[in-house]
Amino acid sequence: MSGSWVPVPAGSGFPLENLPYGVFRAPGGAHIGLAIGDRIFDVHVASRAGLFHDADLNAALRSGSLNELLALGRDAWVRLRRRLQELLQSSSPIAAEDRERFLVQQFSAQMVMPFEVRDYVDFYSSLEHATNLGKIMRPGTEPLLPNWRRLPVGYHGRAGTVVIDGTPVVRPRGQIKSESGEPEFAPTKMLDAELEVGFVTGVGNALGDPIPIDRAREHIFGMVLVNDWSARDIQAWEYQPLGPFLGKSFATSISPWVVSLDALEPYRTAVPKQEPAPLPYLRASEDWNYDIALFIGLRTAKMCGENVTAEVVSRSNSKYLYWSVAQQLAHATSNGATISPGDLFASGTISGPEPDSYGSLIELTWRGTKPLELRSGETRSFLEDGDEVTMTGYCEEPGKPRIGFGSVSGMILPAH
Ligand code: MN
Repeated sequence: MSGSWVPVPAGSGFPLENLPYGVFRAPGGAHIGLAIGDRIFDVHVASRAGLFHDADLNAALRSGSLNELLALGRDAWVRLRRRLQELLQSSSPIAAEDRERFLVQQFSAQMVMPFEVRDYVDFYSSLEHATNLGKIMRPGTEPLLPNWRRLPVGYHGRAGTVVIDGTPVVRPRGQIKSESGEPEFAPTKMLDAELEVGFVTGVGNALGDPIPIDRAREHIFGMVLVNDWSARDIQAWEYQPLGPFLGKSFATSISPWVVSLDALEPYRTAVPKQEPAPLPYLRASEDWNYDIALFIGLRTAKMCGENVTAEVVSRSNSKYLYWSVAQQLAHATSNGATISPGDLFASGTISGPEPDSYGSLIELTWRGTKPLELRSGETRSFLEDGDEVTMTGYCEEPGKPRIGFGSVSGMILPAH
């Protein structure tokens, strides 16, 4: 692909081949935009300028969120991507003297939620994470429960508390079992972050009609980074027998840019060997994992005060996932449950095989028994007030365009 008329700095995760969608605050209301280089191409302004020729598409592009675009379906997404690449390439039909008015600097833009989250599901799809958690929570027993290799385990989370990058997280209070065995109501002492990716759905299905695994592509629009904040002490007391509840629902952060499946296509890869073989409704005819390098950065209040950048405490990759996005979607609708434009399905914490690739603090510090020793001289078992967690992700391979996700950050504020 030839280059863009928008300057794309070397090493940028936002070349012409990516074009992730986000929503930012503009003077008249929220606008949909695309990240390119260190700019945003204002799609709302482009629509007003008559650069798209479809009434439904124009209505969707002038709305302040991606939900209407998600509802238009895959044919519309493919046509739009082709048109946007045409508009942004060097030989653009937009006259050179007219181009600047479509651009906004990313650093000065305030990003808002890219879509209204309709339903939120969190899976548990990393074999290494599930094994580590089993060893930590149920020592001396078989770490994986008998269903784990048979189906993508998940739970329905809280859509209303999914928040955008940069939103502070207030340390939650909750019921915590004390040493004596009596519960107390107190601020969590075991606040954790979970490194995840999530997919966003488009067109839904009719109630009662499962989505067959090989039609997943028609329903999945793209992916974001997800930090599924977790209060481990609240979770440990409440989770039996129905699963996570208040230990998870206080906040879930997502990155502002939704990267389309089409942009990720060069980085599609196989899932690890699945043994025993999944039931037929979970067998896909295509490879459905993605090679996305993922990182957790931690910056304490002390590091912030000394103007030190975040320290990377974990290096993982979404290719480690045992259950793929297509398997997750097929499973979630296998009982006939519906999905809608704007549903978010998170992968579950993604841990790799090595201890420095674990995707949560409870694993990195083995439930606080091996605290992290930071370059600042501080140690961390779990998150403290003033700590800022930043997760980043990108796809990179020689000879292929770099496809960036940007990042998702959140700072811990003291309990109210
Ligand atoms: Mn999670």
